[in-house]
Amino acid sequence: FLEISDVHKSFGHNEVLKGVSLTVERHEVVCLIGASGSGKSTLLRCVNQLEQVNSGEIHIDGDTVTGAGVDLNRLRRDVGIVFQSYNLFPHMSVMDNVTLAPIRVGGVSKREAQEKAMVLLESVGMGIKAKAFPDSLSGGQQQRVAIVRALAMEPRVMLLDEITAALDPELVGDVLEIVRELAHEGLTMMLATHEMGFAKEVSSQVCFLDQGAICEHGSAQQIFEEPREERTQQFLSRVV
Ligand code: ATP
Ligand code: MG
Repeated sequence: FLEISDVHKSFGHNEVLKGVSLTVERHEVVCLIGASGSGKSTLLRCVNQLEQVNSGEIHIDGDTVTGAGVDLNRLRRDVGIVFQSYNLFPHMSVMDNVTLAPIRVGGVSKREAQEKAMVLLESVGMGIKAKAFPDSLSGGQQQRVAIVRALAMEPRVMLLDEITAALDPELVGDVLEIVRELAHEGLTMMLATHEMGFAKEVSSQVCFLDQGAICEHGSAQQIFEEPREERTQQFLSRVV
């Protein structure tokens, strides 16, 4: 469904992705793990064209999303992304944050967008905060709104980049629970995380990135219980 073929990406002389190939099937959850600077965020950003690849191709459901002539609006509708820093619009209420893109880009009526937003907000326990502004919410609450904002576009793929990294430990569970639920519903996701326990539980496939290349990939069980590569073993022994 999501096919990444031999992607290279450099920033100046620094080659950050060195020929990454990876396939994510529909309804699959793929976790990227790896040391800081290994290229996890860059890879996610290449998928929705926040960064342009230098060579290689990315296809979503058969359509090329790399290179010239790509319909970025359509791509950003199809591919939702949530970052570590929630990036909510501070001057807008929760409801307006969630409905902005469906109304402006999705062409949905305000009323329909708001009704749908309310259902999504309630599903993550944020219905009562629809009128609140982001700065009155906790980090975990803001992150739940950010996830809902991405879901409101009904993306076909969700990219989640360290979405719990900025949260206090007691707030991490709520956000992970939402991702677990989305996985259960069959949403296709690709996520970067430092939470190995979570990666193990939620992902169908785990990719260990090492200095811009996939060193090893396999089922969560295989990677965490019987890693084959020495570098994977070293990485896991440092972080677990
Ligand atoms: P972390 O676990 O810390 O989030 P990461 O695996 O997500 O790390 P990336 O953010 O993808 O790593 O960064 C990979 C490399 O690319 C790093 O060396 C980083 O300095 C470099 N890099 C990332 N974005 C840029 C940019 N916009 N300009 C220049 N270099 C960049
Ligand atoms: Mg990162």
